[in-house]
Amino acid sequence: MNRMDGPPVCAVCRLHPVDWRFRPFCSRRCQLDDLARWADGSYRVPGSEVEPLDRLDDEDDDN
Ligand SMILES: [Zn+2]
Repeated sequence: MNRMDGPPVCAVCRLHPVDWRFRPFCSRRCQLDDLARWADGSYRVPGSEVEPLDRLDDEDDDN
């Protein structure tokens, strides 16, 4: 999962190297674009750092 093939790239466009001023993005534009996606509700985190909340109630109480 961790590739060390060179410099980290922008979390949004995944094309341009990260600019430390806008970490983890390459530019202010991508930084704002990321915020816009969150606000829009259409953002998906690849690799599930966040558990989907609808499943938490289901499989625990049956033993
Ligand atoms: Zn970018």
